[in-house]
Amino acid sequence: MEIMPGIHRIEGITGSNAVLLANEQMAIVDTGIPGNGDAIVSYIKKLGRNPRDLRWIILTHFHLDHSGSAAELQELTGARIVAHEGETEPGPNGTLLLRKGNEGELPPLWYRSTLGRRGGRSRARTRYHDTVVHETVKNGDVIPELGLRIIHTPGHTPGSICPLLENKQSVLFLGDSALNNVDRLSRPLMWDRAKRRQLDQSLHMLRDLDAHTACFGHGPPLTEQVMDKVRSLTDRPYDLPTWKIALKNWRTLRRWRARTARPGHWEGGAR
Ligand SMILES: [Zn+2]
Ligand SMILES: [Zn+2]
Repeated sequence: MEIMPGIHRIEGITGSNAVLLANEQMAIVDTGIPGNGDAIVSYIKKLGRNPRDLRWIILTHFHLDHSGSAAELQELTGARIVAHEGETEPGPNGTLLLRKGNEGELPPLWYRSTLGRRGGRSRARTRYHDTVVHETVKNGDVIPELGLRIIHTPGHTPGSICPLLENKQSVLFLGDSALNNVDRLSRPLMWDRAKRRQLDQSLHMLRDLDAHTACFGHGPPLTEQVMDKVRSLTDRPYDLPTWKIALKNWRTLRRWRARTARPGHWEGGAR
């Protein structure tokens, strides 16, 4: 789906959203869980572009639902994998690898239940693989060929970034630092108070930006009142994300699922 000329939310991706920047230079922001490489490559081909022209795979953070297909996409295209230095760890022979989640940082229970057994997905699609990071970025770095500025927004993870396309398209990529519940934005579910405070500080830094469109790790892009919604999120204290409220109303949700259940209906929904 073309969000605006040259900016595509790639269809059929499992896990997070994957957004392709296909202006003069090509880059992708996030890749979904493992196993999306072919779908991304065929989308690029469908646009009449050569997958070997994909130059950067930019990861908003290391979580598997965003980084899972980075290594395979790198192999298919030759693109360079870009992440914040806080999301890396030393690999063999002087290489840098993307961190793998440890227990406290793994996306919680939904991961194995939603994407694992219930989704009938193989273990290979729900586990971290080695992912070499070719370029690390820090706050304020710019990829000039794309007009993309990196804003470091620690909180959800130590090296979470919100890249901002600074050309007239003015697109902000929020990764998992904020979720789009359509009516309003919310913060991701976090138990750790110190990390919540850190995320709040990060979100505060975004208040004065002038983005016209926002893309999220999960959920549809936002094309109206973007900064009003970001600012109103930072005005509110940490509150329950909409999906958690939905969990509290599990019975209602179950009835709804029974009504809408059909094969393939319950795809995605990952946070
Ligand atoms: Zn995440
Ligand atoms: Zn996510």
